Amino acid sequence: MTQETMERLSDRIQALSESQTLAMARLSREMKAQGLDIISLSLGEPDFNTPDFIKDAAKKAIDDNYSHYPPVNGYLELRQAISAKFKRDNNLDYPADQIVISTGAKQSLANIVLSIVNEGQEVLLPAPYWVSYYEIVKLAGGIPVPVETSIDRDFKISAEQLENAITPNTRLIIFSSPCNPSGSVYTAEELTQLAKVIARYPNLMVISDEIYEMINFESRHASLATNAEIFDQVITVNGVSKGFAMTGWRIGYIGAPLWVAQACSKMQGQFTSAPSGISQKAAQAAVEADPAKVAYMRDEFLLRRNLMIELLSEIPGIRCNRPPGAFYLFPDISEFFGKKTDGYEINNASDLSMYLLKEAHVGVVTGEAFGNPECIRLSYAASQDQLKEAAARMKKHLNRLH
Ligand code: PMP
Ligand code: GLU
Repeated sequence: MTQETMERLSDRIQALSESQTLAMARLSREMKAQGLDIISLSLGEPDFNTPDFIKDAAKKAIDDNYSHYPPVNGYLELRQAISAKFKRDNNLDYPADQIVISTGAKQSLANIVLSIVNEGQEVLLPAPYWVSYYEIVKLAGGIPVPVETSIDRDFKISAEQLENAITPNTRLIIFSSPCNPSGSVYTAEELTQLAKVIARYPNLMVISDEIYEMINFESRHASLATNAEIFDQVITVNGVSKGFAMTGWRIGYIGAPLWVAQACSKMQGQFTSAPSGISQKAAQAAVEADPAKVAYMRDEFLLRRNLMIELLSEIPGIRCNRPPGAFYLFPDISEFFGKKTDGYEINNASDLSMYLLKEAHVGVVTGEAFGNPECIRLSYAASQDQLKEAAARMKKHLNRLH
């Protein structure tokens, strides 16, 4: 885009950054198309295919003529199935009218932020945060306020840190557990400590993004909203993309206070009308199923996590923790800052990511995109052979830096 065409765009879109996860995935794809053998660990999506029982439900929905505009907030039968899922898996009581189905959890997040954040209000983002939180808040005119964490505390904020970050202008907190990009998981006890702080600020709202709920290796998933004293302050976001390998079907959902659900429905009534009816019927089969039916994916992710941690531990300069969830590692690579090799000087995580892509042909995402410039994000949602090859290439090329 030229400077001249750029200036013809709205201030709003000019201020918006491209999604760095999608941008790295695009770069990797372009280099692959040029014939290069790229291993892309950049995009966070399961490499599994959607399970057959879900695909069958979609085929049936086509034959049953689910081809008309669905209700704006989603089919009642899907909202009822999600209501039952919230009870079954999370011990949460969200009746069907407090549930809104959207075109991916990404749209759920945009609906909520646009519905409850006013111009100039602050939104706390424990960092590292997922890329799109920051940009969606900006788009709504809010002020994203990162709250720093460190690898030594497994990238989790404490109740004290939260308390210190809240100002009279704080409207919302957005966090994910299991976390993208760190893979960290808040325990039920840690969430209760955060809830005690949140309860002291009744006008403060929280988005608890639980889209990686099913990819948790060490504990039973804990939902923030089970802390009864803040139930009306929490909006629980979830979706079928990650747990059911359904990223392309584009179905996400929320459980929320009625007034928030109604606002989100009004919002998407003007933007998208409703998410695809065929995808909704597929999502219904997914959430109604016994979660044990898809546990094979989580089991495989666990093997890959262990493999990748072991392989990275053999690379001098990389410092990695042991994240209990999602399918990401978020190693600290700051040891390489100030190092060089022919034609490259590494001064930050973005330099290192570009170096790895261009020289090692391994796509990762810079931690800067997630608010932590000392780290890079690797998605281990790739085959074990690919992970072994990627780690070998990283080792070879990182060892060249001096
Ligand atoms: N939240 C987090 C933390 C994510 O990683 C993603 C992945 N894209 C989303 C929300 C959105 O997921 P989707 O739009 O595919 O439902
Ligand atoms: N959530 C995934 C990621 O973080 C998919 C990309 C996106 O939706 O931005 O890589």
